Amino acid sequence: MADIIVQGLTQNNLKHVSFRIPKEKITVFTGVSGSGKSSIVFDTIAAESQRQMNATYPAFVRSRLPKYPKPAVERIDHLTASVVVDQSPLGGNARSTVGTISGLYSSLRLLFSRIGSPYVGTASYFSFNDPNGMCRTCSGIGKITQVDIEAILDRDKSWNEGCVKDSLYSPGTWYWKQYAKSGLFDLDKPLKEYSDEEYNLLLYGSRNGMDKPENPKVTGIYHKYTKTLLNRDISNKSRHTQEKSQNLIAETVCTECHGQRLNQAALSCKINGCSIADLCGMELTQLREVLLQITDKTVDVLVQTLIEGLDRMIEIGLPYLHLNRDTPSLSGGEAQRLKLVRYMGSSLTGLTYIFDEPSAGMHPRDVYRMNSLLKQLRDKGNTVLVVEHDKDVISIADYVIDVGPQAGQNGGEIVFEGTYPELLRSGSLTGNAMMETLPVKMEPRKRTGSLPVRGACLHNLKNVDADIPLGIMTVVTGVAGSGKSTLISQVFARQYESDIVMVDQGPITATNRSTPASYLGFFDEIRKLLARESGRPDGLFSFNSTGACPVCGGKGVIVTELAYMDPIVTECEACSGMRYNEEALACMYKGKNIVELLEMTASQAMDLFEDAKIRKHLKVMQQVGLSYLTLGQPLSTLSGGERQRIKLAKNLGKKGSIIVMDEPTTGLHASDIQNLLKLFDLIVSRGNSLVVIEHNLDVIKQADWIIDIGPDGGKNGGEVVFEGTPMDMIRSAETLTAKCLRASCA
Ligand code: ADP
Ligand code: ADP
Ligand code: ZN
Ligand code: ZN
Repeated sequence: MADIIVQGLTQNNLKHVSFRIPKEKITVFTGVSGSGKSSIVFDTIAAESQRQMNATYPAFVRSRLPKYPKPAVERIDHLTASVVVDQSPLGGNARSTVGTISGLYSSLRLLFSRIGSPYVGTASYFSFNDPNGMCRTCSGIGKITQVDIEAILDRDKSWNEGCVKDSLYSPGTWYWKQYAKSGLFDLDKPLKEYSDEEYNLLLYGSRNGMDKPENPKVTGIYHKYTKTLLNRDISNKSRHTQEKSQNLIAETVCTECHGQRLNQAALSCKINGCSIADLCGMELTQLREVLLQITDKTVDVLVQTLIEGLDRMIEIGLPYLHLNRDTPSLSGGEAQRLKLVRYMGSSLTGLTYIFDEPSAGMHPRDVYRMNSLLKQLRDKGNTVLVVEHDKDVISIADYVIDVGPQAGQNGGEIVFEGTYPELLRSGSLTGNAMMETLPVKMEPRKRTGSLPVRGACLHNLKNVDADIPLGIMTVVTGVAGSGKSTLISQVFARQYESDIVMVDQGPITATNRSTPASYLGFFDEIRKLLARESGRPDGLFSFNSTGACPVCGGKGVIVTELAYMDPIVTECEACSGMRYNEEALACMYKGKNIVELLEMTASQAMDLFEDAKIRKHLKVMQQVGLSYLTLGQPLSTLSGGERQRIKLAKNLGKKGSIIVMDEPTTGLHASDIQNLLKLFDLIVSRGNSLVVIEHNLDVIKQADWIIDIGPDGGKNGGEVVFEGTPMDMIRSAETLTAKCLRASCA
C-alpha cells in the first residue's frame, strides 16, 4: 500500500515541507496552536482530495459544489477520497434531529410500518418531514413560533406616547404616521382602554380579528411583525437585528402534537405500548432496552441494525442524547461524534478520514471509547488522520507528525516524524510535554463572595443549588452530558446576564473585514502614526474611506457576475489585492506602508512599535497565545479556539468582571495550556472572577475551587456531586472526575 506523499508544501506558514503519511494507519498531527497542523491536514490534504473529486464531475454539477482552492504544494501522490469529520455544526435546521442525522429514525419508521399496530401505512406515514406523517399545526417541527405581542406593545401607552416599543414606530416616524393618520385610532387613548374591536383592528387590521384586513391602509401590527420576523430569513442580518428579533418571538411547544412532531394517526400506532415519538424521547440506553423486548422474528435484522447503531452512539459517549433532539442545539464535540457514528455505519473502505480534535468536550473517562472507534475505522481499511493535543489520543497513533517548533512564522516545519515511542524519546516540545504533568495547586485562593443559583431544573438538572464563587478561578467538571453547560452557560449566565462576560467559541460578530487590529481597537492608533508621519489625514489609511483603491473600491477583489453561474472572483489588478490606493501605499512608518504593517505578526509588531497604546494590545495578544497572528489576518479565518482567545483578549483589560468560558483549552498544546493558566492567574489577581468548564486535568489541578456535576450523563447526571479544592477532591471524592484526577497524579 503506497504512502501518501506530500512534497514542497508552502500553504500558509508551511516552509516548503515534504513528508509521507502511511495508509491504513492512524496518523496524529501534533504541535502548538498555529504551528501549521490545519494547514497541512485541512487546507492541503482534504482540500486537494475534494478538489480532485469535484473535477471528475461535469461542469454543470461542479458549478454547484463548494470551491476548494488549489493548495500551495509542488506534488501530492497516492491521495485517496477523503471525509472530513470536524466540529462544524451538523447541517441542520429545526427538522434535523439526532435520529434523522444518524439514520436511526428511518430504521424506526420502517419498524413501525412493519409491526406497529394498528397498522397505519408505509414508512412515510411516520415521517415528520412528509405530509403523510407530519403534525399539520407545526408542520412537523414540534414547536410554534409566534410574535410575542406583549414584547412589542406597551399597553399603558397611547399612540402619541409611543405604544409600539420598536423605535421604528416612535411618534412622528414614517411607520407611526401610517397608523396615526389612518383615522382608525384615538391617538391619546392608552391601549389598555381599547375595546376588543379597536384592539383587533390594531393587531390584525380587522374588527373581529379574523377576516382579511378590511382597510388596506393599515396592516395589523401582529401581521406586520409576523411578516418581518417569521416569514423572512434573517440569518444574514446583523447580530443586533437578530437578537432584537429573537426578543420579539416566543417559541412554544405545539399544542396539537405536544412537541412530538407527528399527526394523531402516526402517534396512535404502537409497538409494545410505545409510539415512535415515545421511543424518540427516551435516552439511548433506555431505547436500547425497549428494542431488546421486541420478539417478532420478522424484524430481527432491522432490530439488530438499530441496536448496533445505538451501541456505537453509546460507546462514543453519547448515551444521554435522545433521537428527537434537534441538531442545532448540539455542541461542536457532540456534532463531531455524531458524524463519526454516521461514517462507522458505512461500509466504504479505502477512504481518508480526517478528524479535528475529536477529544473536544470529552471527559477523560470517555476518550478511550472514542479511541477504539478510531481504531475500528482504521481496521476496516481506512487511513485516519487526527489533529489532536490529548495525550491519550496521541498515544494510540501508529505514526506521529509533529509540526513546529512554534507558531506562525516561527513554525511551519516538521520537527518530528515517527512512532509514538520515538516521539517520547525525541526531546521535542510535544514529546517532552507528553511526560510532564502539572502539580496540584496547594494554596488555593479564598473566594471574596458568591452568586447563588437556586432550584435549577433546566434539561437534566435536578433542582440544583449552587454558589458560584467570586474572586477566584472555579472549574466546572463532569462527563459530557452531565449538565455543566446547562448549569453555567444557560441557567447561571442568564440569571446574572448583566454581570457576566461570556467568552465562547462562537462566531465573532463584526464585519468580515475585521482583523485583530480593528477588533481589538488599535488599528486607529496605527493609522494615526502613519498620518502623523506623513502629514496626511487618518482617513487615507482606511480602505473603506479615502484610502480605497479606486478600481475595486477597497474590496481587494473584482467580482464578475455571470448569469446562471457562480460569480467569478479575481484579485484586483490595480492594487494587487491590497485594497489601498497608491497615495496611501506611498506613506511609510519606519519604512513600512499600511499593508506591510498589517502583514506583521503581533510579535514582530512588538519589536517595531513604540506607541504605548499599541504595545498594550500586542502584549495582550501575546498573553492569550495569539502572537503568531498577523495584525491584518481576517478574523473569519480563525479557529473556534482562536476566536475564544481573541474574545478573551478583548476583555482582558477589565476589572471586576465575571468571565465564563467553555473549554478554553480547545486547540491548545500542553505548552500553550501552561501559558493560558498563567493568564488565568493574572486575570484573577486583577480582581476578576473566572468560571471555566473544562475536562483538561492540568486545568482542573490548578483550580481554586471545583464544582463537579454528575454522577454521569443525561438523566443519570444533573447533580452537584462534589464541591471543594483540588486537594479535597484527590483526598476524599469518589466521583468519575476524582478517579481520573487521582490516576493522573499517580
Ligand atoms: P494549527 O492548526 O497548528 O493551529 P494553522 O495551520 O491553523 O495552525 O495555522 C498556521 C498558520 O497559518 C498560523 O499563523 C495561522 O494564523 C495561519 N493561517 C491559517 N489559515 C490562514 C488563512 N486562511 N490565511 C492566512 N493565514 C492563515
Ligand atoms: P455538558 O455541558 O455537561 O456536556 P449539557 O448541559 O450540554 O451537558 O447537557 C445536559 C443534559 O441536557 C443532556 O442530557 C443533554 O442532552 C440535555 N440538553 C442539553 N441541551 C439541550 C437542549 N437544547 N434541548 C434538550 N436537551 C438538552
Ligand atoms: Zn405539532
Ligand atoms: Zn483594488
